[in-house]
Amino acid sequence: MGIADETINRGEVVQGFGSYFNGIKRMRMDMNLIKTQNLTHFPFILILEQSKTEALLEEFLLKNASMEVDRQCELISFIELNDKDNLIECVIKDYRSNTEGKLIKIHTKFLCGCDGAHSKVRQNLQLSFSGNTYEETLYVLDCHLKFMDTTETESLLDDAQFNLTKSGLCLLFPLKGHNMDNRWRVIGTVPHELLNSSKQLQFEDIAPDFSRRIQRNIELYDPLWLSIYRTHHRYADRFYIEKKYFLLGDAAHIHSPVGGQGMNTGLQDAFNLAWKLAYTIQGKTVDKDKLLQTYNDERIEVAKNLVQSTDRVFSLMTSRHWFFSFFRLKILPYILQYIVFPIISCISPVREAVFKRISMIGIHYRQSQLSMNSNKNNVQAGDRLPYVYTHPEILLSSTDNNVEDDSRRYFHLLVLLTSKSNSKKSFHFVKFIEENYSHLIKLHEFEYSEATKEIFRVYDVNRNSNGGVFLVRPDLHIAYCSTTFDIQHFNTYFSAYFLHKSD
Ligand SMILES: Cc1cc2nc3c(=O)[nH]c(=O)nc-3n(C[C@H](O)[C@H](O)[C@H](O)COP(=O)(O)OP(=O)(O)OC[C@H]3O[C@@H](n4cnc5c(N)ncnc54)[C@H](O)[C@@H]3O)c2cc1C
Repeated sequence: MGIADETINRGEVVQGFGSYFNGIKRMRMDMNLIKTQNLTHFPFILILEQSKTEALLEEFLLKNASMEVDRQCELISFIELNDKDNLIECVIKDYRSNTEGKLIKIHTKFLCGCDGAHSKVRQNLQLSFSGNTYEETLYVLDCHLKFMDTTETESLLDDAQFNLTKSGLCLLFPLKGHNMDNRWRVIGTVPHELLNSSKQLQFEDIAPDFSRRIQRNIELYDPLWLSIYRTHHRYADRFYIEKKYFLLGDAAHIHSPVGGQGMNTGLQDAFNLAWKLAYTIQGKTVDKDKLLQTYNDERIEVAKNLVQSTDRVFSLMTSRHWFFSFFRLKILPYILQYIVFPIISCISPVREAVFKRISMIGIHYRQSQLSMNSNKNNVQAGDRLPYVYTHPEILLSSTDNNVEDDSRRYFHLLVLLTSKSNSKKSFHFVKFIEENYSHLIKLHEFEYSEATKEIFRVYDVNRNSNGGVFLVRPDLHIAYCSTTFDIQHFNTYFSAYFLHKSD
């Protein structure tokens, strides 16, 4: 989207993640270990408050599409009109010019429910939202922190920190400028003894005993805001309904916030759906439904996996059962310190797998109908486009500051040619794409050389092979891979979804 630089600029880059059990530091994950592996242009944890992320996206929308998010309009109800266009009629209460709210009607072909965990769209469609509510209550607090742990050096206080004691779980995240003003975000489980109180929990209830509870010496002062909430793990049974409704974000799936992946998953939903919806509305697809159905199939799998995996971790970390409590405080620290941490530090593929999971760059759609391989190698259709450190422009917007950049509206075909490639076959393949699909696909050819050899290594194309083609979707997942340059194979796949130039 071209907003990476500004996003980093507004957030806090964290170089490590420390884990403390009963106040003792058992391991520190150093992000420098990831840097050397060239998995991403961004090998660090970025802490950016959700409000700032939303502001960035709203600025982007205004700058690129001259649109604003209307926060003063509420969806009240919707019905299907059963007219020839099969439109939905939405009743909106508009508070922009009238504090009482004025009722207006909007007619639309599609309705996207991005309306949070209590989604009216989901409820009106009577979709199930199965799962559970956790026993634990959490607090999220922005305040100032003074570290008085004597063993810490200053640089390590830039780390995000995970703390587990018998009083519960607590995460500390440094906020932008924290080394000047000591501002941190604190997320923790509300101590059980405070839960029974009938009055609303205050900063003054949490702060005085904080050090004792996490068994460290940290003073909390000058709170900025505090919120208390129950957390759930649930997902809807469908994300695409009756060929016209979609659920995205918390409306579709919610889980424990401990992994910090809720908003990120909602943004991925939007990124997955946006181009499919645009292509369908613009009449670029063969069928009005087939491409949109892949939104449901691809994203529901991601949501299920995320809800289940965060549930396992959160339950293990918070369960009140004596065995889990014993395990996480008496056994887990040693497993992490003496087994997990040495393995992650020394064995690069394990480290890579862990990083891909936590950063979510490992999410793939290999099982999707939209993913097609002519053969299988390490990089497959459905994978996120791999990062090539010598050629970051393949993945990133080439013009990070250019709002006119429209490359994300297209598919991109990467053609990797070696000295063994059948030049006649590859020439005809490229010509076929240009003649039939240049309105949808941009071509990029790379010949094997000293300068491009890293691309071939990352894409697992041997210099002594015939080469390969990789079709990349507008949302940067690979749609199609082949080493055969077979026009018919490609056309059978692509024309099942997308129209030829001449259609
Ligand atoms: C304490 C806490 C910490 C978290 N930390 C992280 C984190 O570090 N990283 C991360 O990725 N995620 C995190 N999350 C999760 C993240 O906040 C949510 O996943 C994210 O806000 C979901 O976005 P959403 O747009 O789907 O829903 P919401 O943020 O709930 O937004 C829904 C919007 O729809 C509007 N709306 C609702 N009903 C209507 C209606 N009828 N008409 C019109 N508008 C309506 C609401 O006003 C709201 O603006 C955290 C959550 C919590 C509670």
